[in-house]
Amino acid sequence: MSVLVYVENADGKFKKSTFEVVSYAAAVSDLLKTELIAISIGDVKQDDLSNLGKYGAAKVLNVSSDKLKNFVNQAYASVIAEAAKREGSSVVVLANSFTGKGLSPRIAVKLKAGLADAAVELPKTDNNTFTIKRTAFSGKAFATVELNSEVKVIALNPNSFQLKESGSISKVEDFQPEFRDSDFRTMVSEIVRASDKIALPDAELVVSAGRGMKGPENWAMIEELAGILGAATACSKPVSDAGWRPHEEHVGQTGIAVSPNLYIAIGISGAIQHLAGVSSSKTIVVINKDPEAPFFKVADYGIVGDAFEVVPKLIDAIKAY
Ligand code: FAD
Repeated sequence: MSVLVYVENADGKFKKSTFEVVSYAAAVSDLLKTELIAISIGDVKQDDLSNLGKYGAAKVLNVSSDKLKNFVNQAYASVIAEAAKREGSSVVVLANSFTGKGLSPRIAVKLKAGLADAAVELPKTDNNTFTIKRTAFSGKAFATVELNSEVKVIALNPNSFQLKESGSISKVEDFQPEFRDSDFRTMVSEIVRASDKIALPDAELVVSAGRGMKGPENWAMIEELAGILGAATACSKPVSDAGWRPHEEHVGQTGIAVSPNLYIAIGISGAIQHLAGVSSSKTIVVINKDPEAPFFKVADYGIVGDAFEVVPKLIDAIKAY
């Protein structure tokens, strides 16, 4: 028996969500009193692979193949499922990231496993049953799911589990999967990076702005605030619909769901469709000139004031700090 965790990388580097997911999987393997094995696909440095031991992985399976150079849902899912079978894993854990959302149901089908995606807590275990809390309805509610299958797949929401350093160095083994032509019917031939900015789903700090900013010409102060905080920038849907900001910044029910440690919302009313994308943020700060703006109801800190006065003062205060 073992727990298998898929460790996602971006351009050969592990992301924060990867270490979170390994820490979570290590806690699951502690619950089951079993070994944690990680599987990495792509060209990641040997040291980075063995450092996964610090987060609890006893062993890392390293899959490096030209065929898997670009992400292919079906092929990656087959490789992970094959590793789970070879290692006798009863639980497969991965991040509920963009790629994780595509992989987790495919892995579950291949392993005839129950799936808890968008998980936010460790499972409660009772014999073969796992009870897991997950978000539902685009983050507007929580649901509790029960998994009774022999094998279980859990996709963990980003920013929902604390990093925990518990071990030392992992041993790294090469893993040679068996490829099938059917896994490569859809191929990614080229990846063009839209920007070098901090990726919104992974951001720990987000500065987000809405129609209250009046127009795209006023975003310089939003970018400056985000820049000095090391935050990603985001926006409401009407802002991206109007072409003031790129669509990949649109947060909410029809956009990206974020769960940063800090979400600063400037000139955003707090419509339910926007809140659906920010409800798992740890701390929400709202700046709005309307004291009745619905966003204040979910804010941890609120400033009632004109963004054009408040934001420059905030920037000055942070610079002076
Ligand atoms: P507004 O509602 O116009 O609010 C602007 C806010 O700025 C107001 O609260 C105002 O008091 C404040 N303000 C104005 N001037 C200033 C100033 N000088 N200083 C400070 N504050 C100021 N929206 C999303 O964001 N994401 C989604 O995913 C999404 N999906 C949707 C899906 C559906 C099916 C539908 C119907 C709608 C969806 N919407 C979504 C739209 C949503 O309902 C709201 O219309 C939208 O979120 C409002 O954007 P906003 O808050 O930027 O603009």
